[in-house]
Amino acid sequence: MEDSIKKKIVSARKRIALVAHDNKKDDLIDWAVYNKAVLSKHQLFATGTTGRLLEEALDVSVVRLLSGPLGGDQQIGALIAEGKIDILFFFWDPMEAQPHDPDIKALLRLGVVWNIPMACDRATADYLLTSSLMHTEYETVVPDYRNYLKRRI
Ligand code: PGA
Repeated sequence: MEDSIKKKIVSARKRIALVAHDNKKDDLIDWAVYNKAVLSKHQLFATGTTGRLLEEALDVSVVRLLSGPLGGDQQIGALIAEGKIDILFFFWDPMEAQPHDPDIKALLRLGVVWNIPMACDRATADYLLTSSLMHTEYETVVPDYRNYLKRRI
């Protein structure tokens, strides 16, 4: 049997999570400064170092979680699972293995599990941030895993 779906309204003011690996931090900060006017309309969350750099560059407050390798990616994943993050900008580094590779994979997985818009490179981030849906309420589909859970008993 197909799992059914339910919907929820994502407010016009989005809860945005941002994460950048070290080799991608300059890229993310440059992108964020260029898009400061839009980003500052929303509530921002970030892993520790990314968050500090964003606060300094944008002069906006950011909910700073732990640094990625210390559990920050997992914290963002948990917030996604709890329905507390609407969008993820995750500039991960495709050229270098990270000490927390399993956490990165887990975060990317949870974004898909919960149907969260995710941008992992600058071009996709541009398309996402310039969507008209960034400024309006949005009715999103929340996957309903009740049937999946029943099958596991
Ligand atoms: P950081 O973590 O923002 O603390 O550098 C990002 C990451 O490596 O996942």
